[in-house]
Amino acid sequence: MKIAILTSGGDSAGMNAVVRAAVKAGIIKGCEMWVVREGYEGLVRGNTEDKPPHIQDTPQIAEGVDVTLVENLRFGDGDLLKNGMGDYSNSKGRSLKGRYIVRVGWDDVRAWFAEGGTLIGTARSAAFRTHEGRMEAAYNMIKEGIDALLICGGDGSLTGADVFRAEWPSLVSELQSQSKITEAQATMHAHLRIVGLVGSIDNDMSLTDLTIGAPTALHRICEAIDNINSTATSHSRAFVLEVMGRHCGWLALLAGVSGGADFIFIPERPPKVTPWEDEMCAAIHRHREVGKRKTIVIVAEGAHDCNLNPIRADYVKDVLSERLGLDTRVTTLGHTQRGGKPCAMDRILPALQALEAIDALLEATPATPSYMIGMQENKISRVPLVEAVTMTKAVAKSIADKDFETAMSLRDPEFRESLEGFHAVSVLDDEKRLPPAQRMRVAILHMGAPAGGMNAATRAAVRYCIRQGHTPFAINNGFRGLLDDNISEMSWLGVDSWMARGGSELGTNRALPSIDLGAVAAKFQEYSFHAFMMIGGFEAFSALLILEEERKHYPAFHIPLVHLPATISNNVPMTDYSLGSDTSLNALVDACDAIKQSASASRNRVFVVETQGGNCGYIATMGALAVGASLVYTPEQGISLDTLRRDVRYLKMRYSLDVKGKSEGRLVIRNEAASQVYTTDVITKMFKEEGRDLFDSRSASLGHTLQGGIPSPTDRARAVRLSLKCMAFLEREHDKLLQQHPKTRHASPDSAAVITIQSSSIKWVPVQDMVQHADMKNRRGKNPWWASTKELVEALAGRPQIVKLH
Ligand code: ATP
Repeated sequence: MKIAILTSGGDSAGMNAVVRAAVKAGIIKGCEMWVVREGYEGLVRGNTEDKPPHIQDTPQIAEGVDVTLVENLRFGDGDLLKNGMGDYSNSKGRSLKGRYIVRVGWDDVRAWFAEGGTLIGTARSAAFRTHEGRMEAAYNMIKEGIDALLICGGDGSLTGADVFRAEWPSLVSELQSQSKITEAQATMHAHLRIVGLVGSIDNDMSLTDLTIGAPTALHRICEAIDNINSTATSHSRAFVLEVMGRHCGWLALLAGVSGGADFIFIPERPPKVTPWEDEMCAAIHRHREVGKRKTIVIVAEGAHDCNLNPIRADYVKDVLSERLGLDTRVTTLGHTQRGGKPCAMDRILPALQALEAIDALLEATPATPSYMIGMQENKISRVPLVEAVTMTKAVAKSIADKDFETAMSLRDPEFRESLEGFHAVSVLDDEKRLPPAQRMRVAILHMGAPAGGMNAATRAAVRYCIRQGHTPFAINNGFRGLLDDNISEMSWLGVDSWMARGGSELGTNRALPSIDLGAVAAKFQEYSFHAFMMIGGFEAFSALLILEEERKHYPAFHIPLVHLPATISNNVPMTDYSLGSDTSLNALVDACDAIKQSASASRNRVFVVETQGGNCGYIATMGALAVGASLVYTPEQGISLDTLRRDVRYLKMRYSLDVKGKSEGRLVIRNEAASQVYTTDVITKMFKEEGRDLFDSRSASLGHTLQGGIPSPTDRARAVRLSLKCMAFLEREHDKLLQQHPKTRHASPDSAAVITIQSSSIKWVPVQDMVQHADMKNRRGKNPWWASTKELVEALAGRPQIVKLH
């Protein structure tokens, strides 16, 4: 099959990762891969120059190597695209002028995933909206023999795709009747296969939880808020930030949650109070009253009041200045939100979706609908493209009809929860306070190594507690701190700047309550804690298990106990994600991009990069997928001499297939505990020795850099969502205990639980039930969901083909 890929509409980070993964996946499955430059416009223009694709100098092909494989490796025009030279020739006189539909090879898309925007170009094509334009497009495709189209764009682009497919049979017969194509061509191209991937920074497409580019845009916005926060605090200023999102408030909402904003305006849920100016000023005045020095208001581009009158950033500024006397500035983030390097998620998601898209094209028949590849419940999904487009339009229509309830209901449940979460942590509302008898003294403690999002989770818990009338206590320095009375009451203002802080503000260590159970119970009693929340990794899980088991001896532990998983290793059983794992992946991506640059500059260097992660290969594996590593070693799979022999063979073959003088730096990711014998040093030396003239080898250890840094927006938003659910759980379980006689209160085993993310659902798992899913010796879960990703990493590096052929 000949498959052509195009990117259309507004650019978004991750589009290049789509092209890269789709090209590779297509070649792996035996397809010929093409790209269309400049979106639909390129299809309409087609190829006026009949130049065959440029094939770089044939390397010495080792015996047994398939010539098609070598041919597929490189067509040599990728550098023109990568350097933005499209219509201009490079020093060798090669040019893509007059050629918009271009065949590409494996090596043409080398390292594309680290680039922002789209290297094959995008456009808004007026011609494609017309019948004549689509006729030209169909003709050009048939002329080049293209059988299938993979389109990455927003809802407009996917609507265009659907129109094209529906019209295709009539286009073909028109072309045949005009004798532009032969009968044989018409028969061969009777059916058009189409698949769509959603590239859109707004996250505005229905039936997918996340669109490609939205996570990166959120990163850009949060970076801006973090920067603005420092100047706002210094001058005690207010800032009004305008962010993108015409019909979708996802960016504004998630930025509000993860940036710790004071007030947000989104299209789906305009302010309920009229005039809204009163509501905003009251909320912000209250924050200033308790001592806040800065104010951040986020306005989505498409924000309006409940009568659809636009709410503009400049007007919000005037209101804040005039009514509250605040020194207020406006920052419009504009196109900075689109740009820059894709974050880890915008590399992983496109790779997984592109693989699914190629499968969907190969399986398509005239009877199957055209699919849009999305992500639902943490899994890559296929949904009929028409349904997704129709539902997306329904949101815009509900907003236009002022039916905001329907607009909200058409968004996924996480959207609504995030909005409720935003209000819970940002609105100071005394009216929410529970009656005194229901109020709790809540202890919060961090355990194990620091992880991004621990502080954000604590901030959310503290603010929720205060709003409900509970008293939140910080236990500083883990269980040791508890025994040393290192305990303090926390305040709403005191945690204000914790959203963006890495590390652990409470201080953390690995001591378990078993250091002195009697003394721990005595402290619980002394401080009259009604509820206990631990934020941490496998230690926190172990500590919870101990506390629950010791309830039989210590009545003080008969209170609700929760564990919120937070560890970069992501090794807590039964949860797909723990706080900190996303931050850590992003730190790994940043470090590996820099290392890869150095490796590539030396042309033929293999870097063996060692990651943390304990006995869990999550970070190594997902990191390898995100940075395009050639190989990955995990503790789950271990390393054997056989593996190493095979891998050395692969590297030798791979380097021998590179064009002379154009070898690439390559990365090998090794988890620190993958093997006690085949250490990073041993492997590096082995590669160096075996690589001889072909390649050199170096090592780098990322160490604790993976734990630190500013938490990613995903970890912050997740922290808020999970932490608030923990608080609700504690309240529920506390209420149940209040029904019992105070002297004989007995907490059920279910009241000691871990909050887990399983697909997109959040589930409470009693700690006793977790044990059967835990590998206690290796401190990790059994059967992790990401286990098969290692094969994917190696497939995208071409290892199975190359080693098989040798
Ligand atoms: P963004 O979300 O960034 O706006 P988009 O894909 O929605 O991206 P649009 O400008 O709406 O961007 O659409 C991109 C292109 O898709 C259009 O320029 C046009 O060529 C094509 N297209 C959109 N709608 C249709 C349609 N109804 N029929 C044919 N082509 C269309």
